[in-house]
Amino acid sequence: MCGIVGYVGPSPSLAVLVAGLTRLEYRGYDSAGVAVLGPDGLGVAKKAGKLGALVDLLDHSPLADGTTGIAHTRWATHGAPTDENAHPHLADSGKLALIHNGIIENYLELKHEVEALGAVCLSETDSEVAAHLVAHHYSESGNLTDALQKTVNRLDGAFTLLVTHQDHPGVVVGARRNSPLVVGVGDGENFLASDVAAFVEHTKTALSIDQDQIVTITPDGVTVQSFSGEPVTPTPFTVDWDASAAEKGGWSSFMAKEISEQPEAVENTLRGRIHPDGSVDLGDVNTLIAEHDTKRVVFLACGTAAYAAMIGAYAVEAWAKIPATVELSHEFRYREPYLDGHTLVVSVSQSGETMDTLMAVKYAIEKQATTVSVCNTQGATIARESAGVLYTHAGPEVAVASTKAFTSQIAAIYLLALGLAQKTGTLSVAERQEIAADLLQAPTHMATMLQSDERIQEMAHWMADTRSVLYLGRHVGYPIALEGALKLKELAYIHAEGFAAGELKHGPIALIEPGQIVFVVVPSPREAPTLHNKVVSNIQEIRARGARVIAIAEKGDAAVLPFADEVIAMPPASSWVAPLLAVIPLHYFGMELASAKGLDIDQPRNLAKSVTVE
Ligand code: GLU
Repeated sequence: MCGIVGYVGPSPSLAVLVAGLTRLEYRGYDSAGVAVLGPDGLGVAKKAGKLGALVDLLDHSPLADGTTGIAHTRWATHGAPTDENAHPHLADSGKLALIHNGIIENYLELKHEVEALGAVCLSETDSEVAAHLVAHHYSESGNLTDALQKTVNRLDGAFTLLVTHQDHPGVVVGARRNSPLVVGVGDGENFLASDVAAFVEHTKTALSIDQDQIVTITPDGVTVQSFSGEPVTPTPFTVDWDASAAEKGGWSSFMAKEISEQPEAVENTLRGRIHPDGSVDLGDVNTLIAEHDTKRVVFLACGTAAYAAMIGAYAVEAWAKIPATVELSHEFRYREPYLDGHTLVVSVSQSGETMDTLMAVKYAIEKQATTVSVCNTQGATIARESAGVLYTHAGPEVAVASTKAFTSQIAAIYLLALGLAQKTGTLSVAERQEIAADLLQAPTHMATMLQSDERIQEMAHWMADTRSVLYLGRHVGYPIALEGALKLKELAYIHAEGFAAGELKHGPIALIEPGQIVFVVVPSPREAPTLHNKVVSNIQEIRARGARVIAIAEKGDAAVLPFADEVIAMPPASSWVAPLLAVIPLHYFGMELASAKGLDIDQPRNLAKSVTVE
């Protein structure tokens, strides 16, 4: 997790670094810190809490500004979120500063080693040992890049490290293994960051840094080498969105803004990828599918992305007639799953940096599976490790709780499922065209669902004291029920469970007592009459036991009216489009309930957006 920024150039670096951290704060907000190389040497300010606490500290005790610096927002793994544990960590009598993203697994062993050399560790973090190790190697050679190279070769685990030294103004050195790092190339200035968001207001030219590489930036140059010291030419790319896309633009929260961007995000995912005959253009992924003898599809994902994948897996089986399953990446990787060259492994991760998923993808590659990543962030590690990538093009998602990334992941996987069906020939041209036409209608229908916000807001106010909410759904509505429940947990800190409606009688119905709030995602009576009837029966069963039912049902669905306390209406759409609509009021509900409780919507407690630790 955590956000990292480094800057060298003509501008006063504090403002650049703090602005960069503001854009990265979604990655971690346990503490924040900066180190700036000013006229009197290295100045450091760090503070537990959100970035605002650091900004207040800098207001009260200003640092002498300089033109070289590094900055960090932390998501604590080792040691409490205190001032002492905040990064940067210092070494070499305060002349060297280091920030770290990730976990150094062998830090205890290294701590004994650096302490034996005379270092005094002031924090409980795993990171501080790296600062002392770099300082130790620096004392041998006086070369910062060499010192970092020697250090990284001693570290186990995952890390991005940035280092600056008082004796080297205009230089920041970085290294990465399994944690993100990109370079922003400016005019007479250069940047290092976990995410392009940190520097996109200064430059859109970026360089990808691969695994196990070390990068040294100066105002005029960027040099990259491998951990073994071989020179490397990094791959350039252009950031395809504006700085303003990562700003709130008048919305009360990033989440509110991103929910409202869902129709556009899905439109962008679909744009230019569907032909009039219902065939799809997925770039390299088309070739990959064409050349691969796919006997099985395995989706790898965590959290919300796993629910998008569940819906996608239903589509792959229904359209392409290929067995498809969804695996939680962290479970999958360590249970020795069977994979072979006939398996298409599709990873789903908004950031493309999710460590659990990255590790699972690497495992899949080892086992000869063909890998495709569904990802929203250009140049992300998982995208680069995979044989093919399907970008969602949803634009930057800043709120920790995923919304537009979720719906655009579903849209992207539908395209993949159509691509597979194209290959297997399991859908007629007319069927493909019908599905494609339905998908292209989705953004318009989604826009209608944005109007549910006011109603949901009222509901959230009278439900603010509720202690538990249940969510039911069936078929593609089931992952939506899971997603609704997850949003409520992460945003409003309320116990919530999502169930497959058919599972109710196998246990969960015992939870129903008078007043229990239950959201039910109701299938369309036109599109799925059998499932619709079954879900209406489920509603009656819980209603008979006193549940307060909020149904999300197709407009004009008369069957649910007598049994629901509230109905949120969806425009008539195909069963496959319905989840993209039903999820919007559930996203609003999580957000509005959190807001009714006075909670921080964009940065819920204990969470960070891009989970770059296992
Ligand atoms: N493991 C380090 C710590 O707990 C870095 C965490 C991060 O990535 O923010 O300080």
